[in-house]
Amino acid sequence: MKIFKIAIVGAGPAGYFAAQALQNLQSDETAFAIDMFERLPTPWGLVRSGVAPDHPKIKTVSKVFEKIANSERFRLIGNVEVGRDVMISTLQDRYDAVVIAVGTPHGRSLGIPGEGLKNVISSADFVYWYNGHPDYQNLDIDLTGTKAIVIGAGNVAMDVGRMLALDPKELDKTDTSEIALRRLHQSSIREVSIVARRGAEHAAFTAPELRELPDLESIDVTMKVDDITSAISRAGAEPEKHVKSNLEAMRLISETPAKGVSRKLEFLFQHKPIAINGSDRVESITFETPEGEVTKECDLLVTAIGYKPHALEELTVDGNHYRNQDGEISNGLYVVGWAKRGPSGVIGTNKSDAADVMKSLVAKLGDPKTSQDLLLELKKPGVVIVDQAGWNRINMKEVENGEAREKPRVKFLEIQEMLEIAGSE
Ligand code: NAP
Repeated sequence: MKIFKIAIVGAGPAGYFAAQALQNLQSDETAFAIDMFERLPTPWGLVRSGVAPDHPKIKTVSKVFEKIANSERFRLIGNVEVGRDVMISTLQDRYDAVVIAVGTPHGRSLGIPGEGLKNVISSADFVYWYNGHPDYQNLDIDLTGTKAIVIGAGNVAMDVGRMLALDPKELDKTDTSEIALRRLHQSSIREVSIVARRGAEHAAFTAPELRELPDLESIDVTMKVDDITSAISRAGAEPEKHVKSNLEAMRLISETPAKGVSRKLEFLFQHKPIAINGSDRVESITFETPEGEVTKECDLLVTAIGYKPHALEELTVDGNHYRNQDGEISNGLYVVGWAKRGPSGVIGTNKSDAADVMKSLVAKLGDPKTSQDLLLELKKPGVVIVDQAGWNRINMKEVENGEAREKPRVKFLEIQEMLEIAGSE
């Protein structure tokens, strides 16, 4: 039997789905020994650090990831950063193919004046903060004002808007970072506006996420009836299916009577941001609207306008992804997920996407390389590599710590703490 060694860089959904696709392509003649490199001691990528804590159902896909990880010939190599601890060229020497699955971790910027003011924060940082990503727990965010504005009309803007507007009691039984949860309990933000630069017919929200909004008990969610009826007429008689269901969900929101609660989440459309104003910190933002310029006060501004990749060795960043041709970067080097196509689609989108790339990867394999096991060289005194057993220990401890408080888990927020648990056999 031919056993090919494959390195996958990044333990998020795209990485796991690439591993699963390879496992599914195994036969009596061909098998794959998969090493999944992850810079954090914890895997699952955006399923751990991106999905909003009040959406626990979406996180159940982690069971699929664990099944993939517990299959034969799969190793997690956590707490090892590719590009720092080991170079892509080394992986290329040792493995028959290398698959980059590192996502697009940085927020895009608006490119308008005032973006550097205090309390102007990217959703990339804010989402990592409330989800307990260890690198973002010291986020400089001030929640003492009353008004927050979120720029963007996608599901991330909606997650951010909900997290800011919700009564934090509703987060007590979630896996929100303990630091963020404490701060959200102290927050005096009561009015959150999600602001789209185009009309509702162009919004990137998805209908299931919109449909849950009127049911949120602690928030009055509002959209202007005129905004939605004009969007419906602009969309024409036969809009695309997703536009139709989005507009239908938005029409229901616009027609839902207010409950009269103090927490507000409003949606504004056709407001293009042109300047952020303030002397030291954000005080207001100016928009261009069909009626002319409008300035809205705010104490906190979160931009949720998409993501971009990080600089990773020689890889060429091409807009919001790494340059590639149908997932191939160069001979034997591939890319999947958001790193391949940009930040779009739901978690499941990565499954078919990775399956296609892995099919062409496998088709181009020749004979397996004979090479030294890289893991043996990475294991040095003082270096903790988190393998699947180490991650299981972290995972179990987090779940155990959550049990008494009826939470799915209490996340460790410091890498050192995670490494101690991982290494404590
Ligand atoms: P997105 O869906 O691409 O939305 C980005 C939004 O930012 C768009 O409304 C875009 O408006 C707006 N935007 C871009 N540049 C702007 C600018 N300069 N000024 C004002 N607005 C600007 O991205 P996302 O919300 O980050 O989500 C990424 C992916 O993750 C999406 O596929 C999303 O569905 C998915 N996701 C899913 C869930 C879920 O299923 N629950 C949760 C979170 C994320 P224009 O259209 O006008 O460019």
